[in-house]
Amino acid sequence: MAPNVVFTCPNTGKTVPTGISMDEHTLATATLSGNFVYCPHCRQTHVWSKEQARVER
Ligand SMILES: [Zn+2]
Repeated sequence: MAPNVVFTCPNTGKTVPTGISMDEHTLATATLSGNFVYCPHCRQTHVWSKEQARVER
């Protein structure tokens, strides 16, 4: 099972799950753009890019 892709909320610095699951290699080679995710920490919708995302282990 692939791990979750997460990114850090720019307002709170907390980890936000993107709802996407893939491993590091797939993330590194994937084409991702215009990704929106609702942030439960600051209750805003953030746009995240591959450069900001990481795989949660
Ligand atoms: Zn946030």
